[in-house]
Amino acid sequence: MNAAVVGAGTMGNGIAHVFAQSGMDVTLIDVSAAQLEGALQTIRKNMDRQIKKGSLSEADRDAALKRIKTASRLDAAASADLVVEAASETPELKFRIFDELDRATRPEVILCSNTSSISITEIAAHTRRPEQVAGMHFMNPVPLMPLVELVRGLKTSDETITAVTELSRKLGKTPVEVNDYPGFVSNRVLMPMINEAVYCVMEGVAAPEAVDTVMKLGMNHPLGPLALADLIGLDICVAILEVLHRGLGDDKYRPCPLLRKMVAAGRLGRKSGRGFYDYH
Ligand code: NAD
Repeated sequence: MNAAVVGAGTMGNGIAHVFAQSGMDVTLIDVSAAQLEGALQTIRKNMDRQIKKGSLSEADRDAALKRIKTASRLDAAASADLVVEAASETPELKFRIFDELDRATRPEVILCSNTSSISITEIAAHTRRPEQVAGMHFMNPVPLMPLVELVRGLKTSDETITAVTELSRKLGKTPVEVNDYPGFVSNRVLMPMINEAVYCVMEGVAAPEAVDTVMKLGMNHPLGPLALADLIGLDICVAILEVLHRGLGDDKYRPCPLLRKMVAAGRLGRKSGRGFYDYH
């Protein structure tokens, strides 16, 4: 099987990694040559880590890396049997990519999006094959996280869901099917918790370390909500909360003013070196 992955950022490199490791040929497509180069380096580094842990052999790493090709244009997806899009979280960009993929690929090919918050039904409406469009929402870091949230758009067919369910299992993941509503299940439940943790800091209920320790030691979470927000990126958290707020029309999803202030100041979390914690 031949898969195309569009977008070679944080998620795209992880998705290409698990596809290649499970024996599929992958074409990783990105408009940025630097991102493609960085993705290949990251995949190698992460596979080397698996070798150290004993979960991958050197021969399997070499074979998997050989299965990954890179390309800068979407028409490189022409020979793909399945496409997963993991480009930047901008609706207009995704609509354009799906319109182009619809024209570039064979009509029976399933087109998936890894979007965290954009409507799969709306993305599918930009193709002539909405029955064959679904969400494959992988979690970060993709090689480590067992879940794939499979999102069924209004017109997604049963055959498409069956195919992506089987594919997820082949990748060694556990698929969970959900319907297409803002935030799906993962972010609808996670983001209000993160937002509430930020309100606790803003209102002086407790310092970030204290909030995170309560959730780690009291609720058995491996990571506190503020450390997790730093990992996801505070700008991404605000964007997802805005989708929930707008899409569900309930003020309980309004992004905390402190979260907005930190984003305005460029404190985006790990990727900028500082969020609720300092990573320098
Ligand atoms: P990222 O910014 O790391 O990577 C996005 C990539 O898309 C970049 O390399 C960029 O060059 C590329 N891109 C932009 N326009 C393109 C185009 N026209 N064609 C091809 N490539 C293009 O973003 P990310 O964190 O990997 O997120 C990607 C998607 O995955 C988003 O939809 C996001 O919501 C979703 N997601 C992210 C996470 C996470 O934790 N980061 C988790 C689950 C889902």
